Amino acid sequence: MDSSQWIDVVEDKFKYKLDHFVVPGHYKDDVESILIPHGIIMDRIAKLAQIITSEYDNERVVVACVLKGGHQFFSDLVNLMKKALNKEGKTLPMTLDFIRVKSYENDKSTGNVHISMTEKELKELKGKNLLLVEDIIDTGKTMQRLLETLSKYELKSVKVASLLLKKTPLSCGYVPDYVGFAVPDLFVVGYCLDYNDIFRDLDHICAISETGKKSYAV
Ligand code: 5GP
Repeated sequence: MDSSQWIDVVEDKFKYKLDHFVVPGHYKDDVESILIPHGIIMDRIAKLAQIITSEYDNERVVVACVLKGGHQFFSDLVNLMKKALNKEGKTLPMTLDFIRVKSYENDKSTGNVHISMTEKELKELKGKNLLLVEDIIDTGKTMQRLLETLSKYELKSVKVASLLLKKTPLSCGYVPDYVGFAVPDLFVVGYCLDYNDIFRDLDHICAISETGKKSYAV
């Protein structure tokens, strides 16, 4: 995917004010601004679902959610892929799987990536088509590390769908196969993206405020 194919989100504090949308009262001081309202997220995922389903033939795909941040995107993407398939009268057998990966504490990468798959689970992927569903690619190191690990297990194909790609000078250059939006170099929360497990219950993708960072730091 090249940059003309995803939506470039630019930071504009005045575009979508918190008052323009429903934001849970408990987060009112913890987010700075809304970057992507929930409705736009859903419309974009419908398009990604259409693109992804059109690129697979009638071969089984293991759709794997990268937990925990990817959970909401995964769930909406799979539903919208099923809808797109039904609409086109196409079939695509899917198996769903979950991989837990953790690399961040507060808003900083720890540099260590923990992948929660056993050797047995990894070996079972041999010969399969895998579609990894991730919330955000920031430096790209987490995904690079996960792909490096998977490359030893002789999968038939591995593709990555990430809802967000961060425009950061710290990027290692990795670009996923499918991207929803490119976002500014800010720590973003909402739509299941967390800050120390907080903000997963916020529907819109927002920039966290300094108050929010302080309130929920560990
Ligand atoms: P990377 O290794 O690409 O730097 O980081 C990938 C992981 O870090 C993501 O899967 C996500 O869990 C976390 N992450 C990176 N940037 C952000 C961000 O802006 N907001 C949130 N909530 N998580 C992020």
